[in-house]
Formats: sequence, structure tokens, C-alpha cells
Amino acid sequence: MTDATSKPSSNFLRGIIDRDLEAGRYAGRRYAGTPGDASHHAAAPVDAAKIRTRFPPEPNGYLHVGHAKSICLNFGLARDYGGVCHLRFDDTNPEKEEQEYVDAIVDAVHWLGFGWDEPDPAKPGATRSNLYFASDYFDFMYRAAEALIGAGLAYVDEQTAEQMRASRGDFTTPGTDSPFRSRTPDENLARFREMRDGRLADGAAVLRAKIDMASPNINLRDPALYRIKRATHHNTGDRWCIYPMYTYAHPIEDALECITHSICTLEFEDQRPFYDWLLDKLCDLGLLARPRPHQHEFARLNLSYVITSKRKLRQLVDEGHVDGWDDPRMPTLAGLRRRGYTPQSIQLFCERIGVTKDHSWIDYASLDAALRDDLEGKAPRAMAVLDPLKLEFTNWSEVFGAAGHLEPCQAPAHPHLPELGTRRFTLGPEVWIERDDFAEQPPKGFFRLFPGNKVRLKYGVVVECTGCDKDAEGRVTAVRATVVPDTKSGTPGADAVKVKGTITWVGAHEALAAEVRLYDRLFTEAQPDAGGRDFLSVLNPASKKVVTGYVEPCLGTAVADAKFQFERHGYFVADATSHAVTAPVFNRITGLKDSWGK
Ligand code: ATP
Ligand code: MG
Repeated sequence: MTDATSKPSSNFLRGIIDRDLEAGRYAGRRYAGTPGDASHHAAAPVDAAKIRTRFPPEPNGYLHVGHAKSICLNFGLARDYGGVCHLRFDDTNPEKEEQEYVDAIVDAVHWLGFGWDEPDPAKPGATRSNLYFASDYFDFMYRAAEALIGAGLAYVDEQTAEQMRASRGDFTTPGTDSPFRSRTPDENLARFREMRDGRLADGAAVLRAKIDMASPNINLRDPALYRIKRATHHNTGDRWCIYPMYTYAHPIEDALECITHSICTLEFEDQRPFYDWLLDKLCDLGLLARPRPHQHEFARLNLSYVITSKRKLRQLVDEGHVDGWDDPRMPTLAGLRRRGYTPQSIQLFCERIGVTKDHSWIDYASLDAALRDDLEGKAPRAMAVLDPLKLEFTNWSEVFGAAGHLEPCQAPAHPHLPELGTRRFTLGPEVWIERDDFAEQPPKGFFRLFPGNKVRLKYGVVVECTGCDKDAEGRVTAVRATVVPDTKSGTPGADAVKVKGTITWVGAHEALAAEVRLYDRLFTEAQPDAGGRDFLSVLNPASKKVVTGYVEPCLGTAVADAKFQFERHGYFVADATSHAVTAPVFNRITGLKDSWGK
């Protein structure tokens, strides 16, 4: 077993970094971007020879568990190689992006345990933040575009979108040149400036790279670099009406920030030739310096019973299928956090699944296994009854001398962590037990309560079941039992009576009523959107069940977000939003055993 702090396991990306370090690929690298470009604050990374990775989310939704894989990978590599990982927002689509998402993403990456500060060489003792926005570089990107135009490497195309699509060709047919492809650099420059100055309508023209319309790689058939879009940007407001395409912006951002290893998911593999083309041209033109960054791809995370598309997650939120981005059933980091998953468990999960180039599905059970491995050794224990049935003792005053007697009991807060102390509670004449711990007619192998049988109340006494009360429908309303004297746990008599079953309980006189939210998988199919299926058609109608349970008095001081193991039930967290000491609310994170395989 590995843990989150153990030596990182090897993967092919570490192999690449090791080779690059050995070859001295980035040794002595100096920043040689555009010092005169005051519009961005990345103008002088501290140490351009450091291993630098980046995590580049688009602020158009909340991060999900797939992003966690990329975050743990990028920030983890930087940490392990003494480098730094930048958090960079790819905000090139102003219509879909919002500050709310920027804030949620910053929060989620911090929560996962990562940061982007590094020592500032300009100010000894101070740190600088490597938090960037693509929009920080819009001025540079614009100048780079003019330089490409000047070198005959880009042109303004005024074909309609339809014509452009048709002339692009397909996998079997080469594309054909646009009639605008032969414009001179001067014509192109003038037209591009008109685009910038708002003299052309949205969609009337695009700036395209001039590469090869017959390339077998469709991404090299003169890809678009800039489009016209009158939209207010969350950072730059209405300053621009042209915006760079992601595929153009991204390599430039990497180069300006002196990224060494630009790590992305395999969908971008076919974009790598353009990444290389663009950076090589800009280096040749003197706008960027070598050594430049290189792109490496890995397989995205696919997790069973989970959707990892921001668009589809947004649909779940917008259409009210869940209660917001942080609904504990959501695979967003905000949702996983509220559900009770710890940052350590998610890091452990990401470490265990590893990084490869092979597409595969990971069983959701591995995330729960990581959660259990993290919490088993640290979560305090408590007893809780989630489907309560009253158990009444008919010989209470004979055994204890008074009907109102309360018998003190105790249990370790954690079986292996004495420093967490002792839980104290009392046994009284009535206790709550789980409904399914009683059977009037016990099935074979049932060792809990049934008439004539003895069980131990955990940390309490041995009791013998004598019968039950039922309502008109035949439903059991209470169970009766007698206390077997001198059998209390921890006393010499405890072993005098042998029993085959031990059950959990909470004293009715001191139990705290609590709202307990029992979550289950959000979808009934392991691959909810497989084969183009509408994922909404396989929503699990029973993904959330709310019960009123009774919990041990020690939980009366539980603070929001505190995690516990409810004995025999699983791991629970005091809900971060609705839990209050006076009205406790617990979410079930997961059970004690894997139930996903069922
Ligand atoms: P979506 O398609 O859900 O919007 P995205 O990839 O477009 O996801 P981005 O914000 O662009 O979302 O993602 C930021 C980074 O996270 C990218 O580098 C992307 O490759 C990575 N990423 C996204 N989804 C996954 C995943 N399932 N597994 C691993 N990495 C992922
Ligand atoms: Mg994306």
C-alpha cells in the first residue's frame, strides 16, 4: 500500500523529465519573452531553468474529479522536482466564463493541498504568486499575430463559416485553399487591424495560420488564430472585440511563463504539431526564445458511475437534478468535499491510479477505498442508529435498584489512538437499536436479537430478548429484553456469558436526533453517457435518502466538516453547510465495505 506522502511511483512523464534534466534541456534557460510587455505580470519568472508545469482550467464551471487527476499530476511533478506549477485560467471564451468559477477553482486547488507561490528573487524573503490568466497576454498575442502576418504565416479569411468547413476537407480528402489565402501581408495586416478596431461584424472574418490545406493532420489545415466576438470579458471588459483561439493562446501562455513540460490529456495529441509549429515560428521571429516548452499527453480519468464533462455537470445543476455544484452527489471537488472526501484521500486515489497513455475506466470503488484508507486511522468513532427501533428493559429496576438509574459506559474515541481520549455515555432503561438488528423469526445464521437470544450491547451489558410489541399492521414497534446482571464490558463478569452477536445502540434518554443523508451513486449505469445515451435517463432516483437517526451524545460537539466513523455503518461528515450543534446533520461519505461491486 502507498500513502499520499510515500515516494512517488514512477510514470512515463517522470521518465521524460528525468531525461530532459539529464540532457540539460532547460539548464541555463533565461527568460527571453517580452520584457517591454507591461500588460502581464509573468514578465520575469524567477528561475527559468526550474521544472515548470501548469494547470490550465477554463473558468466555465467547477472542477471535477478528472481535473483532480491533472492537478495532482502537474502540481505533484513540480513539487517532486523542486519546481513550480502555475495555476492559469484559460479565459479565451468570454461568453462562458465567470468570476464565480475563477474563485471556485482557486479554492478547490488550494483545498486539494496545492499552491503556486515561489520565492521571489527580486525581493529576498518574499514570495511571488504564479496565478495567471490567458487574458494577461492578450497584448502579446496580438503582436505575435501581427508578426505572423508580416512573415506571411497568417491571413485574414473572409469566407463564410460554411465555406470554411467545406474547404477544410476531411480525413480522406485534402482541403482546398481559401480565395483569401493569397492576400499580401500588407493587405492582411490592414484587415486584421480593422477586425481589432471593430469595423467587421462578429463572424465576418477570422485570422488563420497559413500552413498546409492538404496536411494529413486536419489541425494543420490553416487553423483559426483569432475570431471576432463582441463580448464583455471578465478580466479585460470591452477592450477587445477579437479573441484568440485556445489552440493559439495556449502554447504562447506556456512559452511566456517558461513552462518546461506542458502536460495535457490525449485529446490534444493531434494539436501537438500545431503547438510545435507555432512556438517554432515565434522563436524564429524572435518573439520567443528557445528552449521552448513541449507538450506531453496522458489519458484522462474516466470514473465509473460518474460524469466528467463540465457541460453535462452544468446541466445537472441548471435543471435542478442536484442541489447545486456542491451537492454531495456531484463529482465536483466542491461536491466531493461536502460529501466528506478528504484532500488526502483524493491525492491517494490519484497516486494509485497512476498516469499512462491507455484509455481505461477506473472503478468508483477505488476512490472509496482511498477514503477508507485515509480515515480508518484517524476518524473518531461514534455510535449512531439510522433506522431506530426502541429496546426496553423489563428488569431494569431489579438489576440496578432504581427505575431512573443510568449506568455509565465508555469507549475509546479511536481504537488505536489513545490520545483522542474516551467517549462517555450512559445506558438507561430504553435504548435505540437498528430495526434490522431484531428479527421475530430469525433467519439461519442470525445472531442478533430474537426472542430467547442473548446479545451484547457494545460497550454495555448482555441482554436477553423476551419479545416485542407490534401495531395493527404487524409492524414491530418496540422490542423487550432483560438485562443479564454483572455482564458489563470492562468488568470481570463481562466474559461470564458468551454471546454470538454484538449490536450498537444509543441511550434513548440522551440520544441526539440527527438528520442523516444517505447518498448513493448518482447514476444507475457505470458509463452514464456511453454510446451517446442521454445521461439524464439513467439518473438514480434513490441517490439521496434522508433519515432521522439517533447519535451518541459526543457528537453534540461535532463541528461542521468533522469526519467520523459511525460504528458498523461507515464514514460520515458533519455537513459543512447545514450542520449545527443544535440540529446536527451528517452526510454518509461511504460504507465500511465496498458496495459498488454489488
Ligand atoms: P470539460 O470538457 O469537462 O469542460 P475540459 O478539459 O475542457 O473539461 P478544462 O478546464 O479545459 O476542462 O481542463 C483543465 C485541465 O484539466 C486540462 O488540462 C484538461 O486536460 C484536464 N482535464 C479535464 N478533464 C480531465 C479528466 N477527466 N482527466 C484528466 N484530466 C482532465
Ligand atoms: Mg478544455
